[in-house]
Amino acid sequence: MIYDEEAPDTVVSIGGDGTMLQAFHRYKELLDRVAFIGIHTGHLGFYADWQKNELVELLDLMASSEPRNIHYPLLHVEIDTTEGKETHLVLNEFTLKSGDGTLVSAIHINDEPFEMFRGDGIVISTPTGSTGYNKSLGGAVIHPSLEALQIAEIASINNRVYRTLGSSVILPKHHHCDIVPPDLGEELIIGVDHMLMALTGVRSITCRVAEKKVTFARYRPFTFWNRVREAFIGSV
Ligand code: NAD
Repeated sequence: MIYDEEAPDTVVSIGGDGTMLQAFHRYKELLDRVAFIGIHTGHLGFYADWQKNELVELLDLMASSEPRNIHYPLLHVEIDTTEGKETHLVLNEFTLKSGDGTLVSAIHINDEPFEMFRGDGIVISTPTGSTGYNKSLGGAVIHPSLEALQIAEIASINNRVYRTLGSSVILPKHHHCDIVPPDLGEELIIGVDHMLMALTGVRSITCRVAEKKVTFARYRPFTFWNRVREAFIGSV
């Protein structure tokens, strides 16, 4: 194996899920060639599914066998601002909050008005991100073979003026949603996985399932549902 930080074929992330998120964003321009492997140094992670005491076994397998590459869907976010457009590729979730308390935004699905959101924020997650922030908000856990995105609410205010569906919504690959803040001057806090940034002058935010997928190299089977059980339920 040759160590190559610039154009690797395999990226091994050692740490936890947060480390994998950083590795993904560092190498997201190389998704067509890169496969990720996660080793966790703390408790079991979702992306980091090898333990540090299994390193020798992993290295032996890497030297002697070919992995099964599995591909997981990502989220594509396009933000249209008065300064121009920016796009983000997201592994876990995109979050939107207001810099000044309550977020007010219209949500459109497939260019039709759907609801007027008022509350703490909105989280739009990928299937593998569905077990992260989304799950804490009562969103569904989605198997990553389903190419979908999920919109979950953070503490929506529901009364006679503002009304949202109240449950999370799952959109298939060929659908998209737009979030439209009513006021260009409002400061918004945008979250892309573990990164937060403040933006003003946002006209609209469009979210859809990305064309690209992320690849994980599996040297032994560890199914998604087993990971869900191990992380949240324990031994049955
Ligand atoms: P962090 O250190 O606060 O980690 C948050 C926890 O989320 C860690 O235990 C991590 O293992 C877990 N996690 C991350 N991705 C996951 C996934 N896909 N499935 C299950 N668990 C997952 O923050 P970080 O390490 O920088 O990670 C950022 C992530 O934290 C975000 O992408 C978001 O999913 C998650 N988060 C969760 C909440 C919440 O549940 N209330 C709030 C903020 C962020």
